[in-house]
Amino acid sequence: MGKKVVLDTSALFSMEQLPADSDAFVTPGVVKELERYKDRRASLWGELLHVSDASKASLAKVRKAAAETGDSTRISPTDAEVIALALDLEAELLTDDYSVQNVASFLKMPFRPVGIKAIKEVRKWRWRCKGCGKVFDKELPECSICGSELKSTLSRKN
Ligand SMILES: [Zn+2]
Repeated sequence: MGKKVVLDTSALFSMEQLPADSDAFVTPGVVKELERYKDRRASLWGELLHVSDASKASLAKVRKAAAETGDSTRISPTDAEVIALALDLEAELLTDDYSVQNVASFLKMPFRPVGIKAIKEVRKWRWRCKGCGKVFDKELPECSICGSELKSTLSRKN
């Protein structure tokens, strides 16, 4: 048994080889995504990947964290499951997805990118009105003041 790592679809797409001396875990959702993209890795690595579901408790924790960082609409149900599984297993999370990294970072979980640079700190998404410039903490269908379209921006947490 090596150390445990959890991989999301973005990490798997960036890899040519599974990490050596690690036990690689994915969720059923990741396997489905690989199959949907007809990725050869699905059949190549099928027997090497451990497939496991995340606990409901960890999923709830992840959704709460994503709401805090503003990543709720940016992470898919599969993303949330992957982060939750890494929490359950106390495993390192391998991901190239910016929002997944952001939530993992917020939860102080160990994570590592595969094909890109890691984020250095938790960022918070905000939404700025294209019309009047008012900044919102939440994503809204339109500006509550002038009705213009909102554009997401990243800012430091504090
Ligand atoms: Zn406005």
